[in-house]
Amino acid sequence: MSRSAHPAGPRHADVLPEGHYSAPPADLNVLDQKVWAQTVGRNDDGVVTVGGVDVKTLAEEYGTPAYVLDEADFRARARAWRTAFGADADVFYAGKAFLSRAVVRWLDEEGLNLDVCSGGELATALSAGMPAERIAFHGNNKSTEEIHRAVEAGVGRIVLDSFQEIVRVAHIAQSLGKRQRVQIRITVGVEAHTHEFIATAHEDQKFGIPLAGGQAAEAVRRALQLDGLEVIGIHSHIGSQIFDMSGFEVAAHRVVGLLKDIRDEHGVELPEIDLGGGLGIAYTSADDPREPHEIAKALTEIVGRECEAARLRTPRISVEPGRAIVGPTAFTLYEVGTVKPLEGLRTYVSVDGGMSDNIRTALYDAEYSVALVSRASDAEPMLARVVGKHCESGDIVVKDAFLPADLAPGDLLAVPATGAYCRSMASNYNHVLRPPVVAVKDGEARVIVRRETEEDLLRLDVG
Ligand SMILES: *Cc1c(COP(=O)(O)O)cnc(C)c1O
Repeated sequence: MSRSAHPAGPRHADVLPEGHYSAPPADLNVLDQKVWAQTVGRNDDGVVTVGGVDVKTLAEEYGTPAYVLDEADFRARARAWRTAFGADADVFYAGKAFLSRAVVRWLDEEGLNLDVCSGGELATALSAGMPAERIAFHGNNKSTEEIHRAVEAGVGRIVLDSFQEIVRVAHIAQSLGKRQRVQIRITVGVEAHTHEFIATAHEDQKFGIPLAGGQAAEAVRRALQLDGLEVIGIHSHIGSQIFDMSGFEVAAHRVVGLLKDIRDEHGVELPEIDLGGGLGIAYTSADDPREPHEIAKALTEIVGRECEAARLRTPRISVEPGRAIVGPTAFTLYEVGTVKPLEGLRTYVSVDGGMSDNIRTALYDAEYSVALVSRASDAEPMLARVVGKHCESGDIVVKDAFLPADLAPGDLLAVPATGAYCRSMASNYNHVLRPPVVAVKDGEARVIVRRETEEDLLRLDVG
C-alpha cells in the first residue's frame, strides 16, 4: 500500500508496513486491547463499555459525536511514565496533544510537569492550579506578550528557539528584575519516522537552532553572557509517532557532544538535557509501541553511556510525551447516518462528525481502527470507509476498515486512540460544533469539555 504522507506529519515519507488491512480480522467483535483504552470491553449484551459505562448510555446522555476519555487509563499511563523515569528525571506532558483543566489537575496529582506552547495553553495550566515552576514554555514564535506572562508567572523554563528569542527573553526577564531559567532547542539532524530514522547534517524545518555550522554553540555562547538568562540545558525533539529508539541514540550523541564543547569552551557543565517527546502509540493492530519503562531504560542508558565517553557528569534528563499518555485513553463515539455501498469498491459509512473532530487522516494520511460498539454482530465483514459530514471529499475518518455488513443508520461506531491531536486540532469547519470530552471512571461519566453550541458560534460573529 502506498502512502503519500506519514501519521507524524506531511514532511515524513511513506513508512507504513505492506499488507496493512489486507484481510479482515477473524472476529469483528473482538476489541484489540492494544488500540483501546484500558477499561474498554463488551458487556453481555455486546455493547461496549468504558469505565463501567456503556456507550449507548453515553450517546443518549451526551450526544454524538463525543470524545470519551478513560480517566483511570490516563492516570495509569501518566503514572507509568513518572515511575519509569524516577526521581532523577522529569516527565513533561505535552499539552498540545490535549489540554483541559481536568487533565492539568490529573497531571499535577500524578506528579508530572507540563509543556505549553501558547498563551492559551499557559492560561489553562495556570487556571487549573499547575505550579508555574513545573511548566515549560515552548514555541518557535512566542509573542512578546506571551513571554512576558510566562516570565512573570515564574515558569520553570522557557525553551528558546531562535537567536532573536534569546535576546527577547533576556530583555523581558531583566525588565521584570528576574533571571529566567532557559533551555536552548537545537536541531541535531535526525529525522525520525515510525519505523526508521535518517541522520543528516541539516534539518529543513522551522524549529530550533541547527547544531550544524556551529550555530547551536554560538547560541549557547550568547545566552551564557546575558544576565536575564540562566541556561540550564539543551533541548532536542526529533519527531512524532516514533517506535525506533535509534533516532534518540543519534540525537543524544550529538546533544552530549555539544555539552562537551560547551564545557571545553566555557568551563560549565549544563545540568539538564531534554530529549523531547514523539513516542508512538498503536492506532491499529499493526503498531507495536514500547512501554514507558523500556523507553526510560533505553534513554537513560544512552545518555549515561554518551556522558561517560565524554567524561561529563550525567545531566538530569527530561522527556515530553504527549500522544503516548493521552492518545490511547480516548475514543470518538459517532452515530452512523448513511451506509452507501459502491459496487466493486467499498461501502461508504457516513458518521455525524469528521475532519472537524479528527483532521489527522486528512492531514497526515493517518491510520485508525474502528468498531461497531452499540451491539455485537455476526454479519460478514465488509470493506468500509468511514467518512464525515463535511463538504469535502477528503473528509475521511478511517480510510480502510472492515465493519459488519449489517451496519445500519443509528448504529454507534467508535474510533479508538483519538485522545491526542483530535480535540486539540478540532475546527469549526462548516460551522460544525466541536464535540465534548466526556471523562469516564468507576461507573460515572462527566463532561470535562462541553459541546460547543450555536450560541458559542454566534457569540464570535459580531454581525
Ligand atoms: C509535539 C511535541 C511533543 C509531544 O509529541 P508527542 O508526539 O505527542 O509525544 C513534545 N515536545 C515538543 C517540543 C513537541 O513539539
